[in-house]
Amino acid sequence: MKSKHDLTITDIRVIVSSPGRNFVTLKIVTKCGLYGVGDATVNGREQAVAAYLKEHVTPCLIGRNAHEIEDIWQYLYKGVYWRKGPINMAAIAAVDVALWDIKGKAADLPVYELLGGKSRKAIATYAHATGSTIDDTLDKAEALFAQGFTAVRLQTAVPGLKASYGVLGDKKDYFEQQSSRPLPPEEPWSTRKYMNSIEDLFRQARSRFGTEVQLLHDVHSRLTPIEAARLGKMLEPYDLLFLEDAVAAENQDSYRIIRDHTTTPLAIGEIYNTIWDCKELIQNQWIDYIRTATTHAGGITALRRIADFAALFHVRIAPHGAPDLSPICYAAQAHLGIWAPNFGIQEFVGFGSDKSNEVFSYDLTLTEGMIHVGDSPGLGVDFNEEAAAQYPYNRSYLPVSRLEDGTLWSW
Ligand SMILES: [Mg+2]
Repeated sequence: MKSKHDLTITDIRVIVSSPGRNFVTLKIVTKCGLYGVGDATVNGREQAVAAYLKEHVTPCLIGRNAHEIEDIWQYLYKGVYWRKGPINMAAIAAVDVALWDIKGKAADLPVYELLGGKSRKAIATYAHATGSTIDDTLDKAEALFAQGFTAVRLQTAVPGLKASYGVLGDKKDYFEQQSSRPLPPEEPWSTRKYMNSIEDLFRQARSRFGTEVQLLHDVHSRLTPIEAARLGKMLEPYDLLFLEDAVAAENQDSYRIIRDHTTTPLAIGEIYNTIWDCKELIQNQWIDYIRTATTHAGGITALRRIADFAALFHVRIAPHGAPDLSPICYAAQAHLGIWAPNFGIQEFVGFGSDKSNEVFSYDLTLTEGMIHVGDSPGLGVDFNEEAAAQYPYNRSYLPVSRLEDGTLWSW
């Protein structure tokens, strides 16, 4: 196709910055001056994906036509021989998202228009309420409902354990928690203590908030399939929107066991990298929501394919929305979410901090718990390299989890 813009790729920059936490950002520049941005953040392994992009991807793309999104995707997936994997797929994702951003700018259209246009006015989100006690969690949930959120994920400290997933006291995240000693924090785990306490959280939540609001819960892959089946049955009376990551992700067949025992809806996928990781889960209808993120599963091109495949089997998309996903990822998922006919819900923990807002700008607004997508051409995001230079990389890790006897467990 003859484009009125010369979209020959002339420069690719990889920037690792830490405006409040680490992000890996890719900027692809074309001959006519149009550029696009992508997110390649792999939490705790940021420099690996940055090196992969600089050393192995950039040289292959200089001189290519930025319009050729599909061919470049296939080139970076099939062409490297070593398919899949989190580092490879985050690199592909960043390139893919940046190219969609460029194509939108060249067409003078928002990316959702290129995907097929809006299927809805705005995107539903769910927020997080995490507390050190049930009352603390429910007070936080009440504040979120008062802000207009209608869906909230509830997590609370497990009584008898010194630390619990997501419960950070006065620290805002794991990144801040280890800023003085960058080694993986360690958390204890006891399935028995958890199973003995979790029902109370949802019983009290339903008695306090009634049946109109949507409630969710993340198990963070701590259970075996039969334990997860029991948990799903236990929580059925409390009508969860979904139970997330009940069992570790590798063995898709585990979800058949859970499904055989409970009608609690199931969600998984935030650490998946490709459609192949969730193929059996989707085609067997063992799950209800697929949670892969654009940044970790090959970008807009890949997530669009997962969404279309999932639609055939009544599975909806509910992309991961943790703080380690940059506003570029949020924007890519917002454009996908406003288009996808089988969009379900977006996890939402805020668009960023004061520091990250100096570095990233975005055309997204949150009103009454819904994300509205602006009509800027491309993804409507930008990245300020000068502002980012004030925040150099800061080594940080995700935590690890151990049973009370010291055995390493799934975090
Ligand atoms: Mg999760």
